Amino acid sequence: MKEYCGVSGIIGNFDDIFYKLYLTLFALQHRGQESAGISLNDKDHFFTYKRSGFARNLLDIPNVQRKGAMGIGHVRYSTSGNSNIANAQPVYANTNHGKISLAHNGNLVNYKKLRNHLKAAGAIFQGNSDSEMIMHYLAHQEGDFLAALTSTLHTIRGAYSIVLMDEDALYGIRDPYGFRPLVYGKIDGGYIITSETCAIDILNGEYLGEVTEGNILRIDKSGNIEFIPFTKEIIKQNCVFEHIYFARPDSCIFGKNVHKTRYRMGEELARENPDIRPDIVVAVPDSGLSAAMGFADESNVPLDRGLIRNHYVGRSFIYPTQEERKNIVRMKLQPVFEVIKGKDIALIDDSMVRGTTAKEIIGLLKQKGVGKIHYFLACPPIKYSCYFGIDTPNRKKLIANNLLPKEIAEYLEIESVNFLSINGLKRVLKGNANDYCYACFAGNYIMEIEND
Ligand code: SF4
Repeated sequence: MKEYCGVSGIIGNFDDIFYKLYLTLFALQHRGQESAGISLNDKDHFFTYKRSGFARNLLDIPNVQRKGAMGIGHVRYSTSGNSNIANAQPVYANTNHGKISLAHNGNLVNYKKLRNHLKAAGAIFQGNSDSEMIMHYLAHQEGDFLAALTSTLHTIRGAYSIVLMDEDALYGIRDPYGFRPLVYGKIDGGYIITSETCAIDILNGEYLGEVTEGNILRIDKSGNIEFIPFTKEIIKQNCVFEHIYFARPDSCIFGKNVHKTRYRMGEELARENPDIRPDIVVAVPDSGLSAAMGFADESNVPLDRGLIRNHYVGRSFIYPTQEERKNIVRMKLQPVFEVIKGKDIALIDDSMVRGTTAKEIIGLLKQKGVGKIHYFLACPPIKYSCYFGIDTPNRKKLIANNLLPKEIAEYLEIESVNFLSINGLKRVLKGNANDYCYACFAGNYIMEIEND
């Protein structure tokens, strides 16, 4: 199972740590909508609550524990379509290392092998999440807690940004590649470790930095902060798709603001295609908006609101079945007739995966009498599946794996399809372009994929 999630952990003195954690999950809701959970530690008693669906469903649980010295939270999206609450997180267990709660964002490439090994040794699983497997593995390790944790981190392979709490401290853990973001900050009365800075901002906190690759950040109940490196073999592979699509535009991840990065992708797209200058630029909202602004400013073609988004619908990428995704597009987007009628447009989107969403959007625009459509993607062609925590389908289903841009334009029955080049993307990322993973464009996976 692949998972794409958001994690959060808070430590400090708060009367209502449950609500503070809820707010952070609300800020991270774009990272997962299938389930949400919160685990609290109050005087070494652990309380764990989980609900299917949106984070706000946690507020309906009666008589929750609100106070605690620390807590962690999780929002989950899985590709399996299985919304089984048994896979919701955080995962709690009373182990030989004491009471532990754990929440994970990422995907382990050796999950099946390790799970089978644990099952053969007698471990009983309730669900099939990476997190439960990590918990079991950790519980089976000898030595003190940090030795057991380090041994676990040396064994699991793939993408993991983890928040974890035991009876004494809150931990943030990031894999040696740094696929998924993990940041920390100071909030009034304590500290937070979370997936994106937007979850620090919602608590009016101060961003202190990233949990860097291959590190354990430990914050104890007295507020002592310690970084514990668990490996020297660091190969940065920050997921560039976080910037392209997943992260919130107001967040700062991998040291860069997401909106500004997307804006520069739009500028670069305009520079790479100097011969295409239609009447107006139209964004596919919301994730195409920042790139559309950059494209419009660089090309001197005016940006107009040719598509309006209904914000009461979730993200189409995040709905598990194709039928659901198809309906969601029509529920989510509506063209503005007065803006697009008879106009040739540069339609700016963040990325193209299967091409089905693009087909739906183009159908909507044509129904309203749009002129020629030049489709621009602020992202290179996605030709390979992701094994590090992003739900891209089998590569046979990826439209850019099967068709050239010209053929995609023919399939979509539009004037042209234009992807940002990989070199263009690297120019946008400038000095640290080599710190990123580009495997879904180039197929150059940094590790062997055992689960494939
Ligand atoms: S393969 Fe693509 S989506 Fe997956 S981690 Fe690499 S850049 Fe991100």
